[in-house]
Amino acid sequence: MKQAALLAQLRDIVGAAHVLTDGDLSAYEQDWRKRVHGKALAVVRPGSTQEVAAVVKACAAAHVSIVPQGGNTGLSVGSTPDTSGEQIVLNLQRMHAVRQLDADNLTITVEAGMVLQTLQETAAQAGFLFPLSLAAEGSCTIGGNLGTNAGGTQVLRYGNTRELCLGLEVVTPQGEIWDGLSGLRKDNTGYDLRDLFIGSEGSLGIITAATMKLFPQPAAQLTAFAAVPSMEAAVRLLGLAHRHLAAGLTGFEVMGKFALSLVVKHMPQLRVPFADMADAPYCVLLENSDSESETHARARFEHLLELALEDGCVLDAVVAENMAQAHELWHIRESIPLAQAEEGLNIKHDISIQASRIPAFVAHTDALLQRAIPGVRLVNFGHLGDGNLHYNVQVPEGQDGKVFLQEKEDMVNTLVYDAVAQFGGSFSAEHGVGALKADKLVHYKSPVALQMMRAIKQALDPQGIMNPGCILQR
Ligand code: FAD
Repeated sequence: MKQAALLAQLRDIVGAAHVLTDGDLSAYEQDWRKRVHGKALAVVRPGSTQEVAAVVKACAAAHVSIVPQGGNTGLSVGSTPDTSGEQIVLNLQRMHAVRQLDADNLTITVEAGMVLQTLQETAAQAGFLFPLSLAAEGSCTIGGNLGTNAGGTQVLRYGNTRELCLGLEVVTPQGEIWDGLSGLRKDNTGYDLRDLFIGSEGSLGIITAATMKLFPQPAAQLTAFAAVPSMEAAVRLLGLAHRHLAAGLTGFEVMGKFALSLVVKHMPQLRVPFADMADAPYCVLLENSDSESETHARARFEHLLELALEDGCVLDAVVAENMAQAHELWHIRESIPLAQAEEGLNIKHDISIQASRIPAFVAHTDALLQRAIPGVRLVNFGHLGDGNLHYNVQVPEGQDGKVFLQEKEDMVNTLVYDAVAQFGGSFSAEHGVGALKADKLVHYKSPVALQMMRAIKQALDPQGIMNPGCILQR
């Protein structure tokens, strides 16, 4: 009865068409990897900040919890409801307007439901670059990117989403609207509330709009694909690239041979350079952005690659001749998660370790896993420039994926995350904690840090209605 009254109230606020309770709601109720299937009381799709605030007030009064959701592409199960059938999914996708593009101050203010690719295109049409870029950009939203503090392929040069954000508008768990939409690049007036909400995965409030930084478009952008003899060589190449390209180095991705072989197998239309090269266990994708000209960019890039060939950290390399070829090379890198999914079930780890320690970590952890699981297949790729690896374990050939996961997933996770901790790294570099890794947070975060996090949650959301179980366990 109480629920029926709340639903009626929500229909009044956002319109009956935007309170979904029937039909196939799987796009909202199951996570992107389809591993978790929840059940919501309703999916509510507000069209304005005022509607979000009214929805939150109604839910708070009814003690009903809320799961904020953007594109639902998150990889840590933070945007889907639990199985109780008692939570509201608050989907922001209807809120996708540009509020202001300020060319003088290089900022753009958009609503949280704007799809990342639309934001990139809007910036490009005005002659600017919005540099956040990730494979899910066609569906993820800027609200979700802020919620998870997403990383992607340009972090090396432009930072995570946090570094790209100047201000936020947030609806608090009490339904109040905080207008923090500042375009200020400096503002040291006390605690940084903006940074508190960024990366909080919907557990402290709902981001309804954001002011983001814009950058000048580079005059030229070049991409190279290089075969390297080892992970040590890849890290040496990273050092050379930093020294010789400086701020021009905007992307540095590593891809293991097995990861690339999955792309060759499942996406035969893509031509993967050096796929057959026996002595190249890794390939690296480098991007050089240049503010002068294509000629300048090419000369610098070719000089770097000559030095790398002399050093021996590169065995062979190709530089894309044009943008179409560059996109093809990036497409190879971005197809790895899909190729992995085509191959079957796998256990994903999104970890970060200081780049210089990654070769030792990989050697150590590969050996442990090979000892623990005969026939283990390791899919290793990621943003090496940021010390961020997607260090994934594919089910051994011929084994039942579900049985393997049931029997081995916990052991594999413990082995990998313990090794990460031993090397001073993080068990979640860019995908967040969500519900999936809330138990890992308790295990790997220091008690002092946990205590402060719980105090912040208690202060902002004493009723505990914002995404309960996400980040902090219930
Ligand atoms: P959702 O999945 O809907 O939500 C993610 C989290 O943010 C949830 O906890 C949710 O409650 C919260 N949230 C959503 N909207 C709001 C809001 N308005 N206010 C407050 N909280 C909110 N991530 C990376 O960092 N780097 C990558 O390179 C990368 N590559 C990916 C590639 C693929 C193929 C896929 C599927 C995912 C990838 N991701 C990557 C993960 C994912 O795309 C990002 O986490 C993205 O930022 C999520 O955006 P979303 O709109 O889909 O958010």
